[in-house]
Amino acid sequence: VLVRGYIQRDAQGQPLRISGTSMDLTEHKRIEQMKNEFVSTVSHELRTPLTSISGALGLINGGALGEVPPAMQQMLEIAYRNSQRLGHLINDLLDMEKIAAGKMSFDMHEHSLRQLLEEALASNQAFAAQLGVNCVLREAVDVQVWVDASRLQQVLGNFLSNAIKYTPEGGEVSLHCSVPDATHVRISVTDQGPGIAAEFRARVFEKFAQADASDSRQKGGTGLGLAITKEFIERMGGKVGFDTAEGQGTTFWCELPILETCASTPEPGRGHL
Ligand code: ADP
Repeated sequence: VLVRGYIQRDAQGQPLRISGTSMDLTEHKRIEQMKNEFVSTVSHELRTPLTSISGALGLINGGALGEVPPAMQQMLEIAYRNSQRLGHLINDLLDMEKIAAGKMSFDMHEHSLRQLLEEALASNQAFAAQLGVNCVLREAVDVQVWVDASRLQQVLGNFLSNAIKYTPEGGEVSLHCSVPDATHVRISVTDQGPGIAAEFRARVFEKFAQADASDSRQKGGTGLGLAITKEFIERMGGKVGFDTAEGQGTTFWCELPILETCASTPEPGRGHL
């Protein structure tokens, strides 16, 4: 039951009247649970056939059946790209549902952060090259962190793919890693995109939030990535944030607890894609 109370006071601040409301949330919670279960069932049912479609398209697209006419190749690429996109959406929906149901588990181990950052850069190499964006690891203090490596890769992949998507062709996305205090490490991804409008900033980490509704069509997003990111980082004992200025790019960052520092910095430009 949700209870709210109000005290009305006179000009001298003396209480005049107390009023209150109470709301039974049982029905609301039941509907919310049914909605989550429905999304989860539909997403699971969609995932299996989509995996076969994506796999078959990937094989044909990769030339497994030999040369195809150029016009058909172009259609295949579109079909393959969109099947991948649908796959991401389904995985994001399943993650959101697991988070809401408290069923998201984390496989925590000790890892070298530098190695995880290099892997994240390498995984985004093809996407950056496709959009003509240069991705660089600018600075990386190597520390040991206690994380679920695949969830952290998902977070870094989300920061990097957003940064790449919003940076104009020929621009640069840089990955930094610094130690703001003795107990935490900060990983930041800086882009040369349009920045985030002041009126959208408070909603950036909300589910399905997109500054521009046409982004989902033009840039292929779902508005779920940053909501999932925030949840993952907080569950691993850290926090997320961003700094932005309209027209001057954005830096998304996350901070995680450090296990051990093995100070070393790569030469400038190391990790160029
Ligand atoms: P999406 O799948 O739409 O990228 P996200 O949750 O990752 O979903 O991002 C939510 C929204 O935040 C995006 O649609 C975009 O409006 C804004 N956003 C995220 N990253 C950036 C960025 N680097 N520069 C500008 N806007 C961004």
